[in-house]
Amino acid sequence: MNCEHVCYKLFLYMEKELEPFLAKRIERHLKNCIACQKEFDTLAHTLRIIKSVKAPPLPRDYSKIIISEKKSAKEV
Ligand SMILES: [Zn+2]
Repeated sequence: MNCEHVCYKLFLYMEKELEPFLAKRIERHLKNCIACQKEFDTLAHTLRIIKSVKAPPLPRDYSKIIISEKKSAKEV
């Protein structure tokens, strides 16, 4: 497997969407290839940012807050 193949599959590898045998081949390549390791780090960092932006954690009693807001709106 060459670098081009690895980079192409890196995203799927990260999301654990790859066949196990392909994931192993990529793992093996990553251990021996600094260029792809860098690519992997960059992609991992980018993914972390994207995910943190897309899915902000909701407060734990989010639904309670909504319900109490509805109630108080009726009372007024
Ligand atoms: Zn490589």
